[in-house]
Amino acid sequence: MQQHIEQILSDMDTLRPFVLANQNQNAELRSIMRRIIQHVEFIQSMPNIPPQQYEIISKGLMQLLDAEHGAYLKRDPESLLSEQEQSQLHQHIMTRRQMLQSLQYDWPILQHALKSSYELLGKTPPNSDDIRITARNLERFLRDHLQHEVQLHNEVNQLITALKTSMNGMLSVLQEVGDEAPELKQAQHLLAQELPNDPREAKNILQQACTGILNAGNKLSTASRTMHEQMQQQQSQMSTLTKHLKTAEAEARNDPLTGLANRRKLAEFLSALPAHMPTSFIMIDIDHFKLINDRYGHDAGDDILKALASILNESTRSSDMVARLGGEEFCIILPGAAIQAAEALAANLCQSVAIHDFLSKDVIINLTISLGISQKKESETSMQSIKRSDQALYQAKENGRNQFIVAK
Ligand code: GH3
Ligand code: MG
Ligand code: MG
Repeated sequence: MQQHIEQILSDMDTLRPFVLANQNQNAELRSIMRRIIQHVEFIQSMPNIPPQQYEIISKGLMQLLDAEHGAYLKRDPESLLSEQEQSQLHQHIMTRRQMLQSLQYDWPILQHALKSSYELLGKTPPNSDDIRITARNLERFLRDHLQHEVQLHNEVNQLITALKTSMNGMLSVLQEVGDEAPELKQAQHLLAQELPNDPREAKNILQQACTGILNAGNKLSTASRTMHEQMQQQQSQMSTLTKHLKTAEAEARNDPLTGLANRRKLAEFLSALPAHMPTSFIMIDIDHFKLINDRYGHDAGDDILKALASILNESTRSSDMVARLGGEEFCIILPGAAIQAAEALAANLCQSVAIHDFLSKDVIINLTISLGISQKKESETSMQSIKRSDQALYQAKENGRNQFIVAK
């Protein structure tokens, strides 16, 4: 009897380092295990085993089991248990349960078994006298522990699925700005595979993928900053261009010297007029302007053109159009005006210009203008009517200038 117990105790001492080193496949270990079981069965078959010996053997066995599986129970909660580890842990729970059942009449050993299991879980054993409740709680703790691992595994898989979607989005944005994003592709490749069961390997792969995604994320924010700057530059270029375009457009439609409308704007104005609107036209030409240029200089001629443009503008309504057709020739369009109104304006202009003192570099210059008037007939176009007023102007010149003539 004593010999059996000693053999068991010595076997367990030999066995412990193997178990601690996780060498479960070791043949020597298996044979010692078998021997222990035989000895335990022998002791169990003996009547009146001294309780002290029995306690020593049971404690030793439980320590062995703890050494083998305790590591799983104490695991970092973020790591995953492999399927094999899960079944081993499950087995541990079952073995402990059977032991507790077989020991239920040996209170000190039972107390010890429960206490050591609670400690393995990092929990304080409850101060309950009811050992069955304490044991049931312990079992629940162990089951929750297993359940937690399974949940964690599911959550990690859900996280990976979500990551895959956002990675695709990141990849297409980066590729649009010309970045092939190799680190992101590598991360995609890593996560496309089934995660290994070994929690350390799985964690390592997740960390590698995470680093790739973070790097790509940094690139993405740099790319979006660059894009934003480019867009701002383009916007400012656009607004400069728009300003230039507006100036060019104004220049294309206005005479740069006097600011009056040019032929182009005049044509647009005419085509926008309602076809049947009664309209009068006045053509104006400065008399002997060449002589004025010759006597006072070209700059003085320019000053006169500007001053005359102001007089014409001030004498007309905002609905009228004053245009410089070129050189010292002007045209006034009077939409809705009868010929009498046009005549009155022509007479007024002729007189005002004749008495006006034009100034250029403190020199007073006097001049006259000749005018031709027409009213648009039902049967003619505006241009035909303007041509008649031009002929009337020619007549006014012929008749001695400084006068207006109404076209027939
Ligand atoms: P008429 O009484 O028959 O109209 O004689 P005129 O001298 O006014 O007519 P002509 O057509 O012989 O001369 C027009 C002159 O107008 C010639 C040209 O030098 C001058 N001229 C044309 N454009 C400008 C300009 O922008 N500035 C200045 N200063 N002179 C101009
Ligand atoms: Mg002239
Ligand atoms: Mg002329």
